[in-house]
Amino acid sequence: MFGFGGNKNKSPASMPQRLTGDLADEKRRFEVIINSIEDGVILIDDQQTVQLINPGAAAICGWPVDEATEINVQNVLKLVDEKGQALESGKNLFDKIFQAEQTLRENNAFLLNREGKQVPISLSLSPLLGANQQVIAAVAVFRDVAQERAQEKQRADFISTASHEMRTPVAAIEGYLALALNDKVATIDNRARGYLEKAHISTQHLGQLFQDLLTSAKAEDGRLTSHPVVVEMGAYLQQLVADLRFSADKKGLQMEFKLGSSSTINATKEGGDRVISPLYYAYVDPDRLREAITNLFDNAVKYTPEGKITVGLTGDDQVVQCYIADTGPGIPAEDVPHLFQKFYRIDNSATRTVGGTGLGLFITRKIIELYEGRIWVESELGKGSSFYINLPRLTTQKATELQSDAANSSELAPINSLTAS
Ligand code: ADP
Repeated sequence: MFGFGGNKNKSPASMPQRLTGDLADEKRRFEVIINSIEDGVILIDDQQTVQLINPGAAAICGWPVDEATEINVQNVLKLVDEKGQALESGKNLFDKIFQAEQTLRENNAFLLNREGKQVPISLSLSPLLGANQQVIAAVAVFRDVAQERAQEKQRADFISTASHEMRTPVAAIEGYLALALNDKVATIDNRARGYLEKAHISTQHLGQLFQDLLTSAKAEDGRLTSHPVVVEMGAYLQQLVADLRFSADKKGLQMEFKLGSSSTINATKEGGDRVISPLYYAYVDPDRLREAITNLFDNAVKYTPEGKITVGLTGDDQVVQCYIADTGPGIPAEDVPHLFQKFYRIDNSATRTVGGTGLGLFITRKIIELYEGRIWVESELGKGSSFYINLPRLTTQKATELQSDAANSSELAPINSLTAS
């Protein structure tokens, strides 16, 4: 039982009696504090009824304090998605908080205020436990982050525009350097060739850096385009590995493709030995996923001086799991938590000498998160690293439904070519 106000539904033995004497003073003190906080603060009881709302919350939601009290919080703090649609149940923190044991946070939330205007907010919702450890109330603390988001957008726009603009001259320089290095077009001596080759490599690196900057700016402000379709991951990955193995071959690395937990397909053989394996369906944009897996594969090739790269696919009822394992130098344990952050590169002799931008794993993580997937690494120094991607697995029935929905929609690309034959 919880309440600061005179809730009519409460038993006579509860709140009104507790709101006398010291407790009433407590409540007044509490009100003075929360009323002076600029952020929005709302206290709700276990029926999701607003018991207290401070002027900050009232201003953000566009509701007068007296009208917002004693009504369901979801009328006052209406959470919506970025398109302004009400959140599905299960995604709304207010529906989850009474089962939660800890504070829930959502930094990219939106609310629809009383005038119907969408306001970006950062929200945290903390459960308050009663004597029997049940959640009896919750406190929502939130603030209007429209200004911060606008600034972030300005920053991301600047990076996008700058890297886009800079790519053009870099591509031109790269083109001219390639011409100068071409025997059929230009005559240069060996020393000049050496300098130009170095310049060519650096220019390619710069071009890659601008490309990665552009992609990561888009990933950060949700502008990465994504057109998910049903993909049968076995056939998809086998094809992708066949396309990628060239770079491993070139470096003299062995390559193996493992489909399912025990069966192995030798990716070095044309067509491979087909084995019966379950169909692993996922709902992803095949081009975006290719970018993510290619990043992991390229890193495996880049950082592995000799040995083997294994690409595999496995899963259970819930998830499809792809992994890329190498026999490279491994990753120190202290670097693992930071590896998927922007610009993070490991500063050790094993990998520092290899060129890179430090953006690949950040972009890869952002792509995997687009599909509610998870990415992580397991690594042992001196033995190698394995990067894992878990994606939600679609049942065959759901995959068929989505495929026929897509087939009925003229806007979507045909998907048959992407699924297992
Ligand atoms: P980049 O490779 O461009 O530097 P990434 O974000 O792809 O950037 O990778 C970040 C860092 O993680 C790399 O600089 C490297 O130090 C380390 N790393 C990534 N993949 C591997 C790997 N397979 N083996 C060892 N180190 C790796």
